[in-house]
Amino acid sequence: MKSRVLILGAGFAGHTAALQLSKHLDELDVTVISPRDRFTWFPSLIWVGVGTMAPERCHFALSEVYARLGIGYVAGRAQEIDLSRRRVAVTLDSGESSSLEYDFLINATGPYLNFEGTPGLGPAAGNSESVCSVEHATRTGNAYREVVKKLQKGERARIVVGTGHPLATCEGAAFEYIMNVDHDLRQHGLRERAELIWLSNESQPGDFGVDGIEARKGDRIIRGADVIGALFFEKKIRTILPASVRQVESGRLLYETPTEEPTWLEFDFAMLIPQFRGIPLKYLGADGEDVKSKMTQGNGLMTVDADYTAKTYSDYRGRDWPAIYRSPYDDRVYAAGIAFAPPHPLSKSVKSATGAPITATAPRTGMASGIIGRTVALNVLDQARGNEPSHREPLTAMPAACIASMGQSLITGSAASIIMVPVARDYERYPEFGRDLTLSELDVGLAGAWTKRLLHDAFMWKLQARPGWQLIPE
Ligand SMILES: Cc1cc2nc3c(=O)[nH]c(=O)nc-3n(C[C@H](O)[C@H](O)[C@H](O)COP(=O)(O)OP(=O)(O)OC[C@H]3O[C@@H](n4cnc5c(N)ncnc54)[C@H](O)[C@@H]3O)c2cc1C
Repeated sequence: MKSRVLILGAGFAGHTAALQLSKHLDELDVTVISPRDRFTWFPSLIWVGVGTMAPERCHFALSEVYARLGIGYVAGRAQEIDLSRRRVAVTLDSGESSSLEYDFLINATGPYLNFEGTPGLGPAAGNSESVCSVEHATRTGNAYREVVKKLQKGERARIVVGTGHPLATCEGAAFEYIMNVDHDLRQHGLRERAELIWLSNESQPGDFGVDGIEARKGDRIIRGADVIGALFFEKKIRTILPASVRQVESGRLLYETPTEEPTWLEFDFAMLIPQFRGIPLKYLGADGEDVKSKMTQGNGLMTVDADYTAKTYSDYRGRDWPAIYRSPYDDRVYAAGIAFAPPHPLSKSVKSATGAPITATAPRTGMASGIIGRTVALNVLDQARGNEPSHREPLTAMPAACIASMGQSLITGSAASIIMVPVARDYERYPEFGRDLTLSELDVGLAGAWTKRLLHDAFMWKLQARPGWQLIPE
Protein backbone atom coordinates (compact mmCIF):
# COMPACT_ATOMS: atom_id res chain seq x y z
CA MET A 1 0.00 0.00 0.00
CA LYS A 2 1.18 3.52 -0.76
CA SER A 3 2.20 5.75 2.17
CA ARG A 4 0.04 8.86 2.54
CA VAL A 5 2.02 12.10 2.75
CA LEU A 6 0.17 15.24 3.84
CA ILE A 7 1.82 18.61 3.26
CA LEU A 8 0.48 21.59 5.19
CA GLY A 9 1.18 24.80 3.25
CA ALA A 10 2.12 25.39 -0.38
CA GLY A 11 4.76 28.10 -0.10
CA PHE A 12 8.44 27.82 -1.00
CA ALA A 13 8.95 24.85 1.33
CA GLY A 14 5.67 22.93 1.00
CA HIS A 15 5.31 23.40 -2.75
CA THR A 16 8.93 22.38 -3.35
CA ALA A 17 8.35 19.26 -1.23
CA ALA A 18 5.22 18.48 -3.28
CA LEU A 19 7.08 18.90 -6.59
CA GLN A 20 9.88 16.66 -5.32
CA LEU A 21 7.46 13.93 -4.18
CA SER A 22 5.50 14.10 -7.45
CA LYS A 23 8.36 12.04 -8.93
CA HIS A 24 7.45 9.15 -6.60
CA LEU A 25 3.69 8.81 -6.92
CA ASP A 26 4.07 5.10 -7.64
CA GLU A 27 5.10 4.77 -3.95
CA LEU A 28 3.26 7.67 -2.29
CA ASP A 29 -0.13 9.37 -2.16
CA VAL A 30 0.62 13.06 -1.79
CA THR A 31 -1.93 15.69 -0.73
CA VAL A 32 -1.31 19.38 -0.11
CA ILE A 33 -3.55 21.47 2.16
CA SER A 34 -3.18 25.21 1.66
CA PRO A 35 -5.71 28.06 1.59
CA ARG A 36 -6.81 30.16 -1.38
CA ASP A 37 -5.55 27.97 -4.23
CA ARG A 38 -2.54 30.22 -4.62
CA PHE A 39 1.25 30.12 -4.69
CA THR A 40 2.83 33.50 -3.91
CA TRP A 41 6.21 34.57 -5.27
CA PHE A 42 7.14 36.83 -2.33
CA PRO A 43 10.42 38.28 -3.67
CA SER A 44 8.54 40.43 -6.21
CA LEU A 45 6.00 41.84 -3.71
CA ILE A 46 8.39 44.74 -2.99
CA TRP A 47 7.71 45.90 -6.56
CA VAL A 48 3.94 45.57 -6.04
CA GLY A 49 4.45 47.75 -2.94
CA VAL A 50 5.84 50.63 -5.04
CA GLY A 51 3.32 50.04 -7.83
CA THR A 52 5.87 48.94 -10.45
CA MET A 53 4.53 45.37 -10.82
CA ALA A 54 0.94 44.13 -11.07
CA PRO A 55 0.00 41.81 -8.14
CA GLU A 56 -1.27 39.15 -10.59
CA ARG A 57 2.30 38.57 -11.79
CA CYS A 58 3.30 37.33 -8.30
CA HIS A 59 0.95 34.36 -7.90
CA PHE A 60 -0.62 31.42 -9.72
CA ALA A 61 -3.30 28.78 -9.03
CA LEU A 62 -2.00 25.60 -7.41
CA SER A 63 -4.97 23.33 -8.20
CA GLU A 64 -4.21 23.25 -11.94
CA VAL A 65 -0.52 22.36 -11.28
CA TYR A 66 -1.38 19.63 -8.77
CA ALA A 67 -4.09 18.15 -11.01
CA ARG A 68 -1.52 17.91 -13.83
CA LEU A 69 1.07 16.25 -11.55
CA GLY A 70 -1.35 13.82 -9.89
CA ILE A 71 -1.07 15.40 -6.43
CA GLY A 72 -4.17 15.84 -4.26
CA TYR A 73 -5.06 19.40 -3.28
CA VAL A 74 -7.38 20.65 -0.54
CA ALA A 75 -8.10 24.39 -0.32
CA GLY A 76 -8.24 25.07 3.39
CA ARG A 77 -6.39 25.66 6.64
CA ALA A 78 -5.11 22.94 8.94
CA GLN A 79 -6.33 23.58 12.49
CA GLU A 80 -5.49 20.56 14.61
CA ILE A 81 -3.03 17.67 14.29
CA ASP A 82 -4.05 14.51 16.11
CA LEU A 83 -0.69 12.76 16.36
CA SER A 84 -1.90 9.43 17.73
CA ARG A 85 -4.64 9.01 15.10
CA ARG A 86 -2.46 10.62 12.42
CA ARG A 87 -5.26 12.92 11.38
CA VAL A 88 -5.42 16.62 10.54
CA ALA A 89 -8.59 18.66 11.08
CA VAL A 90 -9.05 21.26 8.36
CA THR A 91 -11.33 24.26 7.84
CA LEU A 92 -12.00 24.29 4.12
CA ASP A 93 -12.11 27.58 2.22
CA SER A 94 -15.84 26.85 1.72
CA GLY A 95 -16.26 27.13 5.51
CA GLU A 96 -16.94 23.41 6.01
CA SER A 97 -14.83 21.17 8.25
CA SER A 98 -12.96 18.12 7.06
CA SER A 99 -10.23 15.77 8.26
CA LEU A 100 -7.45 13.96 6.43
CA GLU A 101 -5.31 11.02 7.53
CA TYR A 102 -1.60 10.64 6.93
CA ASP A 103 1.35 8.32 7.38
CA PHE A 104 3.83 11.21 7.15
CA LEU A 105 3.19 14.89 7.76
CA ILE A 106 5.17 17.91 6.56
CA ASN A 107 4.38 21.16 8.35
CA ALA A 108 5.30 23.95 5.92
CA THR A 109 2.80 26.55 7.06
CA GLY A 110 5.23 29.50 7.01
CA PRO A 111 4.93 32.47 9.35
CA TYR A 112 2.08 33.85 11.41
CA LEU A 113 2.43 37.61 10.89
CA ASN A 114 2.31 38.76 14.50
CA PHE A 115 1.11 42.35 14.02
CA GLU A 116 -0.58 42.18 17.44
CA GLY A 117 2.90 41.78 18.97
CA THR A 118 3.33 45.55 18.49
CA PRO A 119 0.29 47.62 19.50
CA GLY A 120 -1.11 49.54 16.52
CA LEU A 121 1.17 47.92 13.92
CA GLY A 122 0.01 46.86 10.47
CA PRO A 123 -2.69 47.27 7.85
CA ALA A 124 -5.53 45.97 10.05
CA ALA A 125 -4.87 48.69 12.64
CA GLY A 126 -4.50 51.07 9.68
CA ASN A 127 -1.35 52.81 10.94
CA SER A 128 1.45 51.17 8.92
CA GLU A 129 1.88 49.14 5.75
CA SER A 130 3.36 45.70 5.02
CA VAL A 131 4.59 43.78 1.96
CA CYS A 132 4.17 40.34 3.54
CA SER A 133 1.21 39.19 1.41
CA VAL A 134 -0.24 40.01 -2.00
CA GLU A 135 -3.08 41.95 -0.36
CA HIS A 136 -0.74 43.89 1.92
CA ALA A 137 1.63 44.76 -0.92
CA THR A 138 -1.27 45.88 -3.13
CA ARG A 139 -2.58 48.12 -0.36
CA THR A 140 0.95 49.42 0.26
CA GLY A 141 1.38 50.22 -3.46
CA ASN A 142 -1.83 52.30 -3.37
CA ALA A 143 -0.83 54.10 -0.15
CA TYR A 144 2.63 54.82 -1.55
CA ARG A 145 1.10 56.28 -4.75
CA GLU A 146 -0.91 58.70 -2.56
CA VAL A 147 2.36 59.87 -0.99
CA VAL A 148 3.82 60.36 -4.49
CA LYS A 149 0.78 62.51 -5.41
CA LYS A 150 1.39 64.69 -2.34
CA LEU A 151 5.03 65.12 -3.31
CA GLN A 152 3.99 66.01 -6.85
CA LYS A 153 1.89 68.83 -5.42
CA GLY A 154 5.04 70.23 -3.83
CA GLU A 155 4.43 68.89 -0.31
CA ARG A 156 7.10 67.11 1.74
CA ALA A 157 6.81 63.64 3.32
CA ARG A 158 8.67 61.47 5.80
CA ILE A 159 8.80 57.77 4.86
CA VAL A 160 9.90 55.22 7.47
CA VAL A 161 10.79 51.64 6.43
CA GLY A 162 12.15 48.72 8.45
CA THR A 163 11.03 46.38 11.21
CA GLY A 164 8.04 46.91 13.48
CA HIS A 165 9.11 44.55 16.28
CA PRO A 166 12.40 44.15 18.19
CA LEU A 167 12.50 40.41 17.27
CA ALA A 168 11.39 40.72 13.63
CA THR A 169 13.15 39.02 10.74
CA CYS A 170 13.06 39.56 6.94
CA GLU A 171 15.08 42.80 7.09
CA GLY A 172 16.26 42.03 3.53
CA ALA A 173 12.75 42.53 2.13
CA ALA A 174 12.39 45.84 3.97
CA PHE A 175 15.83 46.91 2.69
CA GLU A 176 14.74 46.14 -0.87
CA TYR A 177 11.57 48.11 -0.30
CA ILE A 178 13.30 51.31 0.88
CA MET A 179 15.81 51.07 -1.97
CA ASN A 180 12.97 50.71 -4.50
CA VAL A 181 11.14 53.68 -2.95
CA ASP A 182 14.35 55.71 -3.24
CA HIS A 183 14.78 54.63 -6.87
CA ASP A 184 11.15 55.33 -7.77
CA LEU A 185 11.23 58.81 -6.21
CA ARG A 186 14.43 59.64 -8.08
CA GLN A 187 12.83 58.47 -11.35
CA HIS A 188 9.96 60.88 -10.67
CA GLY A 189 12.32 63.74 -9.71
CA LEU A 190 10.75 63.80 -6.22
CA ARG A 191 13.51 62.42 -4.02
CA GLU A 192 14.51 65.81 -2.57
CA ARG A 193 10.99 66.31 -1.18
CA ALA A 194 10.98 63.06 0.79
CA GLU A 195 12.90 62.21 3.95
CA LEU A 196 13.69 58.47 4.03
CA ILE A 197 14.44 56.73 7.34
CA TRP A 198 15.70 53.14 7.77
CA LEU A 199 14.53 52.00 11.22
CA SER A 200 15.53 48.42 11.95
CA ASN A 201 16.32 45.98 14.74
CA GLU A 202 19.70 45.19 13.11
CA SER A 203 22.78 46.05 15.16
CA GLN A 204 24.61 47.22 12.00
CA PRO A 205 23.59 48.20 8.45
CA GLY A 206 23.43 45.08 6.24
CA ASP A 207 23.15 42.71 9.21
CA PHE A 208 20.04 41.07 7.63
CA GLY A 209 19.69 38.78 10.66
CA VAL A 210 22.82 36.81 9.74
CA ASP A 211 25.37 38.99 11.58
CA GLY A 212 26.24 40.69 8.30
CA ILE A 213 28.15 39.53 5.25
CA GLU A 214 31.80 39.57 4.23
CA ALA A 215 33.43 38.76 0.90
CA ARG A 216 37.06 38.54 -0.19
CA LYS A 217 38.11 40.73 -3.16
CA GLY A 218 41.75 39.98 -3.94
CA ASP A 219 43.63 40.78 -0.73
CA ARG A 220 40.80 42.82 0.75
CA ILE A 221 37.83 41.81 2.89
CA ILE A 222 34.67 43.71 1.95
CA ARG A 223 32.18 44.06 4.78
CA GLY A 224 28.45 44.31 4.14
CA ALA A 225 28.12 46.84 6.98
CA ASP A 226 30.46 49.22 5.09
CA VAL A 227 28.84 48.63 1.69
CA ILE A 228 25.23 48.96 2.89
CA GLY A 229 26.18 51.82 5.26
CA ALA A 230 27.77 53.66 2.31
CA LEU A 231 24.62 53.07 0.21
CA PHE A 232 22.44 54.62 2.94
CA PHE A 233 24.85 57.59 3.20
CA GLU A 234 25.08 58.11 -0.56
CA LYS A 235 21.28 57.94 -0.95
CA LYS A 236 20.73 60.26 2.03
CA ILE A 237 18.73 57.64 3.94
CA ARG A 238 18.87 58.33 7.69
CA THR A 239 19.35 55.20 9.82
CA ILE A 240 18.05 54.45 13.32
CA LEU A 241 19.70 51.20 14.50
CA PRO A 242 19.19 48.98 16.41
CA ALA A 243 15.63 50.09 17.07
CA SER A 244 12.80 48.44 18.95
CA VAL A 245 9.38 49.68 17.80
CA ARG A 246 7.05 49.50 20.79
CA GLN A 247 3.87 51.09 19.51
CA VAL A 248 2.43 52.58 16.33
CA GLU A 249 -0.31 55.17 16.06
CA SER A 250 -1.73 57.13 13.14
CA GLY A 251 1.23 59.14 11.80
CA ARG A 252 3.71 58.31 14.57
CA LEU A 253 5.56 55.45 16.23
CA LEU A 254 7.32 54.96 19.54
CA TYR A 255 10.78 53.41 19.40
CA GLU A 256 13.84 53.01 21.58
CA THR A 257 17.46 52.06 20.97
CA PRO A 258 20.22 51.01 23.40
CA THR A 259 21.05 54.70 23.93
CA GLU A 260 17.71 56.45 23.32
CA GLU A 261 14.83 56.30 25.80
CA PRO A 262 11.41 55.72 24.19
CA THR A 263 11.02 58.43 21.53
CA TRP A 264 8.12 59.34 19.22
CA LEU A 265 8.89 59.57 15.51
CA GLU A 266 6.32 61.14 13.19
CA PHE A 267 5.80 59.84 9.66
CA ASP A 268 3.59 60.25 6.61
CA PHE A 269 4.05 56.65 5.45
CA ALA A 270 5.57 53.63 7.18
CA MET A 271 6.23 50.09 5.91
CA LEU A 272 7.27 47.92 8.84
CA ILE A 273 7.74 44.12 8.90
CA PRO A 274 6.04 42.38 11.88
CA GLN A 275 7.47 39.62 14.05
CA PHE A 276 7.08 36.11 12.58
CA ARG A 277 5.68 33.38 14.84
CA GLY A 278 4.41 29.87 14.11
CA ILE A 279 0.95 29.37 12.62
CA PRO A 280 -1.28 28.58 15.62
CA LEU A 281 -1.96 24.84 15.18
CA LYS A 282 -3.25 22.52 17.91
CA TYR A 283 -1.29 19.32 18.54
CA LEU A 284 -3.05 16.43 20.29
CA GLY A 285 -1.38 13.33 21.75
CA ALA A 286 -2.89 10.01 22.87
CA ASP A 287 -6.18 10.54 24.79
CA GLY A 288 -6.48 13.94 23.15
CA GLU A 289 -4.12 15.75 25.51
CA ASP A 290 -2.53 19.02 24.35
CA VAL A 291 1.11 18.32 23.38
CA LYS A 292 1.86 21.67 21.79
CA SER A 293 4.67 22.34 24.26
CA LYS A 294 6.36 19.11 23.13
CA MET A 295 5.92 19.91 19.44
CA THR A 296 6.81 23.62 19.36
CA GLN A 297 9.02 26.25 20.94
CA GLY A 298 7.59 29.30 22.74
CA ASN A 299 7.25 31.18 19.44
CA GLY A 300 4.90 28.48 18.08
CA LEU A 301 7.45 27.28 15.50
CA MET A 302 8.01 23.53 15.38
CA THR A 303 10.72 21.85 17.42
CA VAL A 304 13.00 19.70 15.24
CA ASP A 305 16.37 17.93 15.59
CA ALA A 306 18.23 21.02 16.87
CA ASP A 307 19.94 21.77 20.19
CA TYR A 308 17.58 24.26 21.84
CA THR A 309 19.63 24.70 25.01
CA ALA A 310 19.72 28.44 25.88
CA LYS A 311 23.17 29.83 25.05
CA THR A 312 24.85 33.22 24.69
CA TYR A 313 25.82 34.34 21.19
CA SER A 314 29.49 33.45 21.67
CA ASP A 315 28.56 29.94 22.87
CA TYR A 316 26.45 29.05 19.82
CA ARG A 317 27.84 26.16 17.79
CA GLY A 318 27.27 25.18 14.16
CA ARG A 319 26.14 21.73 15.25
CA ASP A 320 23.21 23.26 17.17
CA TRP A 321 21.37 23.58 13.85
CA PRO A 322 18.96 20.90 12.64
CA ALA A 323 19.88 18.66 9.71
CA ILE A 324 16.87 16.44 8.92
CA TYR A 325 14.04 18.73 10.22
CA ARG A 326 12.10 15.99 12.03
CA SER A 327 10.20 16.30 15.29
CA PRO A 328 12.01 14.50 18.16
CA TYR A 329 8.57 13.85 19.71
CA ASP A 330 6.91 12.23 16.66
CA ASP A 331 9.16 10.74 14.00
CA ARG A 332 6.45 10.90 11.33
CA VAL A 333 6.24 14.69 11.48
CA TYR A 334 8.66 17.10 9.78
CA ALA A 335 8.83 20.91 9.53
CA ALA A 336 10.17 22.81 6.52
CA GLY A 337 10.86 26.47 5.71
CA ILE A 338 9.86 29.10 8.24
CA ALA A 339 7.76 26.52 10.15
CA PHE A 340 10.79 25.00 11.94
CA ALA A 341 12.09 26.75 15.06
CA PRO A 342 15.70 27.93 14.74
CA PRO A 343 17.70 27.00 17.88
CA HIS A 344 18.98 30.56 18.26
CA PRO A 345 19.45 33.82 16.36
CA LEU A 346 22.27 34.16 13.84
CA SER A 347 22.91 37.71 14.91
CA LYS A 348 23.99 39.49 18.09
CA SER A 349 21.36 40.56 20.57
CA VAL A 350 21.52 43.95 22.30
CA LYS A 351 19.42 45.55 25.04
CA SER A 352 17.27 48.65 24.57
CA ALA A 353 17.59 51.61 26.94
CA THR A 354 14.84 50.07 29.09
CA GLY A 355 16.48 46.62 29.03
CA ALA A 356 14.37 44.80 26.41
CA PRO A 357 16.20 42.53 23.93
CA ILE A 358 16.59 43.73 20.33
CA THR A 359 17.56 40.92 17.95
CA ALA A 360 17.36 40.56 14.19
CA THR A 361 16.09 36.97 14.32
CA ALA A 362 17.25 34.24 11.93
CA PRO A 363 15.87 34.54 8.40
CA ARG A 364 14.88 31.49 6.37
CA THR A 365 14.89 32.82 2.84
CA GLY A 366 13.09 31.35 -0.15
CA MET A 367 16.18 29.47 -1.27
CA ALA A 368 16.75 27.93 2.19
CA SER A 369 13.03 27.11 2.46
CA GLY A 370 13.10 25.40 -0.94
CA ILE A 371 16.22 23.39 -0.08
CA ILE A 372 14.72 22.33 3.25
CA GLY A 373 11.44 21.44 1.50
CA ARG A 374 13.33 19.15 -0.89
CA THR A 375 15.39 17.64 1.96
CA VAL A 376 12.34 16.87 4.06
CA ALA A 377 10.58 15.33 1.04
CA LEU A 378 13.56 13.02 0.43
CA ASN A 379 13.70 12.07 4.12
CA VAL A 380 9.98 11.21 4.10
CA LEU A 381 10.64 9.05 1.05
CA ASP A 382 13.49 7.30 2.90
CA GLN A 383 11.20 6.60 5.84
CA ALA A 384 8.31 5.45 3.64
CA ARG A 385 10.74 2.90 2.17
CA GLY A 386 11.55 1.66 5.67
CA ASN A 387 14.92 3.42 5.97
CA GLU A 388 16.26 6.09 8.30
CA PRO A 389 16.28 9.67 6.89
CA SER A 390 19.59 10.10 5.06
CA HIS A 391 19.36 13.66 3.71
CA ARG A 392 21.01 16.34 5.84
CA GLU A 393 20.97 20.09 5.08
CA PRO A 394 21.91 22.15 8.15
CA LEU A 395 22.07 25.92 7.65
CA THR A 396 25.75 25.58 8.58
CA ALA A 397 26.35 23.73 5.30
CA MET A 398 23.79 25.48 3.12
CA PRO A 399 24.76 28.34 0.79
CA ALA A 400 22.49 31.36 0.38
CA ALA A 401 22.22 33.51 -2.72
CA CYS A 402 20.19 36.69 -2.42
CA ILE A 403 19.60 39.42 -4.95
CA ALA A 404 18.38 42.52 -3.11
CA SER A 405 16.63 44.80 -5.60
CA MET A 406 17.48 48.51 -5.51
CA GLY A 407 15.26 49.49 -8.44
CA GLN A 408 13.41 47.23 -10.85
CA SER A 409 14.31 48.98 -14.14
CA LEU A 410 16.58 47.00 -16.46
CA ILE A 411 18.25 50.29 -17.51
CA THR A 412 18.43 52.45 -14.38
CA GLY A 413 17.87 49.74 -11.74
CA SER A 414 20.41 48.05 -9.53
CA ALA A 415 20.69 45.26 -6.97
CA ALA A 416 23.00 43.97 -4.27
CA SER A 417 24.03 40.41 -5.18
CA ILE A 418 24.97 38.42 -2.10
CA ILE A 419 26.31 34.88 -1.77
CA MET A 420 27.24 33.49 1.63
CA VAL A 421 28.52 30.01 2.37
CA PRO A 422 27.16 28.83 4.71
CA VAL A 423 24.13 30.82 5.93
CA ALA A 424 24.77 30.08 9.62
CA ARG A 425 28.33 30.85 10.70
CA ASP A 426 30.33 27.81 11.82
CA TYR A 427 33.49 28.90 13.65
CA GLU A 428 34.61 25.32 14.24
CA ARG A 429 34.88 24.80 10.50
CA TYR A 430 35.82 28.35 9.44
CA PRO A 431 37.64 29.82 12.49
CA GLU A 432 38.21 33.33 11.12
CA PHE A 433 34.76 34.41 9.88
CA GLY A 434 32.57 31.35 10.40
CA ARG A 435 32.11 31.27 6.61
CA ASP A 436 34.15 30.36 3.53
CA LEU A 437 34.99 33.78 2.13
CA THR A 438 36.49 32.36 -1.05
CA LEU A 439 32.94 31.37 -2.04
CA SER A 440 31.16 34.45 -0.65
CA GLU A 441 30.22 37.38 -2.89
CA LEU A 442 28.94 40.92 -2.45
CA ASP A 443 28.39 43.15 -5.47
CA VAL A 444 26.17 46.10 -6.27
CA GLY A 445 25.17 46.98 -9.83
CA LEU A 446 22.80 46.77 -12.79
CA ALA A 447 23.60 43.09 -13.48
CA GLY A 448 21.78 42.20 -10.24
CA ALA A 449 18.61 43.94 -11.50
CA TRP A 450 18.65 41.69 -14.57
CA THR A 451 19.32 38.59 -12.45
CA LYS A 452 16.46 39.41 -10.06
CA ARG A 453 14.01 39.74 -12.99
CA LEU A 454 15.30 36.53 -14.60
CA LEU A 455 14.87 34.70 -11.29
CA HIS A 456 11.24 35.83 -11.14
CA ASP A 457 10.51 34.34 -14.56
CA ALA A 458 12.66 31.20 -14.12
CA PHE A 459 11.10 30.31 -10.76
CA MET A 460 7.53 31.07 -11.80
CA TRP A 461 8.22 28.59 -14.65
CA LYS A 462 9.72 25.95 -12.35
CA LEU A 463 7.07 26.27 -9.65
CA GLN A 464 4.27 25.85 -12.18
CA ALA A 465 6.00 22.58 -13.18
CA ARG A 466 6.31 23.68 -16.79
CA PRO A 467 8.47 21.60 -19.17
CA GLY A 468 12.04 21.16 -17.88
CA TRP A 469 11.18 22.46 -14.37
CA GLN A 470 13.38 19.77 -12.78
CA LEU A 471 16.46 21.39 -14.35
CA ILE A 472 16.07 24.62 -12.33
CA PRO A 473 17.55 24.16 -8.82
CA GLU A 474 15.88 25.40 -5.60
C1 LIG B 1 8.20 40.87 0.78
C2 LIG B 1 9.08 39.67 0.87
C3 LIG B 1 10.16 39.57 0.02
C4 LIG B 1 11.01 38.46 0.09
N1 LIG B 1 12.06 38.39 -0.76
C5 LIG B 1 12.84 37.31 -0.75
C6 LIG B 1 13.92 37.20 -1.67
O1 LIG B 1 14.17 38.09 -2.49
N2 LIG B 1 14.66 36.06 -1.65
C7 LIG B 1 14.40 35.06 -0.77
O2 LIG B 1 15.10 34.04 -0.81
N3 LIG B 1 13.40 35.14 0.13
C8 LIG B 1 12.62 36.24 0.15
N4 LIG B 1 11.61 36.34 1.05
C9 LIG B 1 11.43 35.26 2.04
C10 LIG B 1 10.61 34.12 1.46
O3 LIG B 1 9.41 34.60 0.94
C11 LIG B 1 10.36 33.11 2.57
O4 LIG B 1 11.58 32.60 2.98
C12 LIG B 1 9.50 31.95 2.11
O5 LIG B 1 8.24 32.41 1.67
C13 LIG B 1 9.32 30.95 3.23
O6 LIG B 1 8.73 29.81 2.69
P1 LIG B 1 7.71 28.92 3.54
O7 LIG B 1 7.23 27.86 2.61
O8 LIG B 1 8.31 28.56 4.81
O9 LIG B 1 6.51 29.91 3.88
P2 LIG B 1 5.46 30.57 2.89
O10 LIG B 1 6.05 30.81 1.55
O11 LIG B 1 4.89 31.74 3.62
O12 LIG B 1 4.33 29.47 2.72
C14 LIG B 1 3.50 29.06 3.77
C15 LIG B 1 2.27 28.41 3.18
O13 LIG B 1 1.48 27.86 4.22
C16 LIG B 1 0.13 28.23 4.02
N5 LIG B 1 -0.57 28.14 5.30
C17 LIG B 1 -0.61 29.03 6.32
N6 LIG B 1 -1.35 28.57 7.32
C18 LIG B 1 -1.79 27.34 6.95
C19 LIG B 1 -2.59 26.36 7.58
N7 LIG B 1 -3.11 26.54 8.80
N8 LIG B 1 -2.84 25.20 6.90
C20 LIG B 1 -2.32 24.99 5.65
N9 LIG B 1 -1.56 25.91 5.02
C21 LIG B 1 -1.30 27.07 5.67
C22 LIG B 1 0.23 29.61 3.41
O14 LIG B 1 -0.97 29.99 2.79
C23 LIG B 1 1.38 29.37 2.43
O15 LIG B 1 0.90 28.73 1.26
C24 LIG B 1 10.75 37.45 1.03
C25 LIG B 1 9.66 37.56 1.91
C26 LIG B 1 8.84 38.64 1.83
C27 LIG B 1 7.67 38.76 2.78
